[in-house]
Amino acid sequence: MPREYQFQVSPEVAASEHLLNQHVAKQFQISLKEIQKTIVLKRSIDARQKAVKINIKAKVYFTGEDFTEAPIALPEYPNVSNAQEVIIIGAGPAGLFAALQLIELGLKPIVIERGKDVRGRRRDLKAINIDHIVNEDSNYCFGEGGAGTYSDGKLYTRSKKRGDVDRILQLLVAFGATPEILVEAHPHIGTNKLPQIIQDIREKIIECGGQVMFETRVTDFIIKANEIHGVVLQNGDTITANKVILATGHSARDIFELLDRKKILIEAKPFALGVRAEHPQELIDKIQYSCDFRGDYLPPAPYSIVKQVNGRGMYSFCMCPGGVIAPCATSPGEVVTNGWSPSKRDQVTANSGIVVELKVEDFKPFAKFGALAGMKFQKAIEQKAWHLAGETQRVPAQRMVDFSKKQLSTSIPKTSYVPGTTSVELGEVFPGFLTQIMREGFQEFGKSMKGYFTNEAILHAPESRTSSPVRIPRDNYTLEHPQIKGLYPCGEGAGFAGGIISAAIDGEKCALKIAEVLK
Ligand code: FAD
Repeated sequence: MPREYQFQVSPEVAASEHLLNQHVAKQFQISLKEIQKTIVLKRSIDARQKAVKINIKAKVYFTGEDFTEAPIALPEYPNVSNAQEVIIIGAGPAGLFAALQLIELGLKPIVIERGKDVRGRRRDLKAINIDHIVNEDSNYCFGEGGAGTYSDGKLYTRSKKRGDVDRILQLLVAFGATPEILVEAHPHIGTNKLPQIIQDIREKIIECGGQVMFETRVTDFIIKANEIHGVVLQNGDTITANKVILATGHSARDIFELLDRKKILIEAKPFALGVRAEHPQELIDKIQYSCDFRGDYLPPAPYSIVKQVNGRGMYSFCMCPGGVIAPCATSPGEVVTNGWSPSKRDQVTANSGIVVELKVEDFKPFAKFGALAGMKFQKAIEQKAWHLAGETQRVPAQRMVDFSKKQLSTSIPKTSYVPGTTSVELGEVFPGFLTQIMREGFQEFGKSMKGYFTNEAILHAPESRTSSPVRIPRDNYTLEHPQIKGLYPCGEGAGFAGGIISAAIDGEKCALKIAEVLK
């Protein structure tokens, strides 16, 4: 029988099966000759001590034992061409995993996506980066795979439901992601690998008889007697179905406005907002690994930090080691930042959103917009940033210490943000209370992470699309909107997820509920 062991080793030992075998033999007093194979089940980095260690949980197979394991396979997906149809608005993680789940349960998904497929989308990302042109339907947030496609592809979540998380990870592996995501404590996929996985998911949906429509924006809902009957498209066409999953993400402002106009209940929701900070990756490695050089065996270091400042949480968000800051606006006339990284995370800079939690009371100046007050607050900051940086996709930027000292930076070095930066006193971008918290907060961060508070760090403003500024409510049990039968608010845009994995889980959850009703 293979046996499981948990132990700690140096990064060098963790990187070599031969050295791992030697370690296991020595620590657990087994003859090296008896060890046939060591398979790592879980791996995490312990950087709390000066010499960084790797925690390992491994399965050890002994001579004569069969260690071949069946590759992770896709579920049996039936052909659903003639099955009952369910509309899914949005092909982000929530929409795509809802579609797969519906197929598994014998229902036909019709996925309607305003953006382009992954390939077509690339041209629009180039246009925003190089020509400062924002396509309102195809950008870093909109298009096949949703906001998660051209991202860091971090796959960790605060969800406590391990079974649900594992199921999504396994599906991703079956669709071509590296099996390492099942092993790493903090798995990620990377921008270069995600598009192919997303494309394979789409091809599977179509192969099974589902439908996926690109460059098709939903502009209205067909509602009769408080029951949904379908959707209206931008070209005036209609698609009918009496079950609609609304998974349009946190940036679909026109959908929030549509719901508000139609007097369909939505609520202002607190979210977080701040800046995206960029440090040299080498500096973050030094701080996190307490070393001069990271060496060959450790990955570029991530960080995660949270402080209470003036009674508010200020924290790192969507940290991308070895990554790039991306222009994530979804409309002309605004500037928005976020970050991505390639699978190797081999860029020279580390970036992270550093954001402050907001309260609904903060949206008071926009109170006349009711449930849209938070969205208007968010938009006003994005538009101000656009204006201050020169009305292109250049971003207002400031060195970290200069920001804390209210001092305009005399120079901003080239950063990973391709459209470029404009030196701006960032206090001009944000409301006073937010600026004050960040000024103090960065100094507090520097106390915990020695070297973090430095003028080598460049702040880019704003990081504003951290989660949805609006909640689209739903019944806890039926998952339907409380006023509109058959409408299933889903994923991050509705306020039920935050990140790729939790959005995918929520998509599956809505699909399961629909199947429960229809079957
Ligand atoms: P979305 O992914 O936002 O998808 C919604 C889809 O709906 C979009 O494709 C949009 O085009 C479509 N849509 C909107 N309106 C309409 C309409 N009217 N008609 C038709 N279609 C419409 N999360 C992580 O977990 N890890 C990361 O590393 C990570 N990095 C990120 C990096 C970047 C640059 C960005 C922008 C986000 C990142 N995120 C990351 C967040 C993550 O992408 C989202 O949490 C996740 O994609 C939400 O999934 P969703 O399906 O709910 O919505």
